[in-house]
Amino acid sequence: MFQFEMLEENNHEQMVIFSDKHSGLRGIITIHDTTLGPAIGGTRMLPYSSIQSALKDGLQISSAITYKAAISGLNLGGGNAIIIGDPKTDKNELLFRTFGKYVESLGGRYITAEDVGTDVKDMELVRMETKYVAGISKALGGSGDPSPVTAYGVFVGIKAMVKKQWGSDTLRGKKIAIQGAGNVARYLVEHLAHEGVEIIITDKNEDKLKRIVSSVKAHVVKPEEIYSVEADIFTPCALGGIINSEMIEKMNFGIIAGATNNQLENPEINAELLKKKNILYAPDFVINAGGLINVANELEGYRQDRALRQAETIYDTLCNVIDYSRKEDISTLAAANELAEKRIKQMRGMKNIYKGESSFSGRFGEIVRKR
Ligand code: NAD
Repeated sequence: MFQFEMLEENNHEQMVIFSDKHSGLRGIITIHDTTLGPAIGGTRMLPYSSIQSALKDGLQISSAITYKAAISGLNLGGGNAIIIGDPKTDKNELLFRTFGKYVESLGGRYITAEDVGTDVKDMELVRMETKYVAGISKALGGSGDPSPVTAYGVFVGIKAMVKKQWGSDTLRGKKIAIQGAGNVARYLVEHLAHEGVEIIITDKNEDKLKRIVSSVKAHVVKPEEIYSVEADIFTPCALGGIINSEMIEKMNFGIIAGATNNQLENPEINAELLKKKNILYAPDFVINAGGLINVANELEGYRQDRALRQAETIYDTLCNVIDYSRKEDISTLAAANELAEKRIKQMRGMKNIYKGESSFSGRFGEIVRKR
């Protein structure tokens, strides 16, 4: 009963709980909404203390992917898989191949990929049992690291934000404060430096900072200083939950636009406060959709040039979100959620929506919006 209530409360279509004594595999697959297409989402392997906490995570992630796909014009839904176990000690071939059989048994309603606790090698084992896997290595015909496409999407997204906040999308002379010098930031700074942006950057990891400053001109600050530096734009590229109301009250940035997932600690409240303070906020699931766009491209036979071109649509998507938020006098987060829901509702009326066919062919040609 508890699980039924959780599904209904979270508007989910399906949940699969599986346990295999032979391999020791225990896990859950959650499918949020397949109106637009098959549910896609990573496999998270963590030593959850209870099925409830695993399920809570799974439900939250799969619904977030539905919204990300919908606002990005992709014909995909949101899903997620959780394997309960310690990724340091519990991984083996049998476990991942058994998991692959469960994914296969869903006949394409769910497509998996790597996530926290799993990697490309694990997905290659899963692939031995099912074709419903994405995010595999380039050597095996996959899309490899999504960071270059995510970074490009964030870059064009920043330009759209600047246009809407200050009237022109030129970045020359703008100051950008970047939190995190990891995979996304590494590619993002190249685009920004090329446009003549003044870069201020921080990371907890000295080596990653060194790698950045060896390739572009950037001013390094301590992690706790990044929120108060003098800059036009704040670009989070590290961990989520970093922006709260107290911090927003003190902030002097004109724009927040970055790759980090779940940036706002209290999404609705914080987004409303950002609106009041005229800090233009790029909803994270809109601006960081390049990663999902990259994976969606893999489903049609991967080509990075096409993925990059499609990531460019993030510019128009963000402009639409901001125009809608101004017209309706709501936060950009509320606007992005409403636009995503509108697209799903409209598509529910179409006859040729995804119905759970078991084959990739003939449908994945339509997964990515054509330009
Ligand atoms: P990453 O792990 O390569 O880099 C994150 C960096 O942030 C690390 O170098 C880490 O040391 C640093 N960091 C962590 N906490 C910090 C703090 N408090 N202050 C300063 N630095 C801190 O991750 P990534 O792939 O670059 O992704 C960055 C963010 O973007 C993540 O939230 C990720 O979920 C999100 N994202 C990434 C992609 C992608 O394609 N990689 C796609 C969509 C969303």
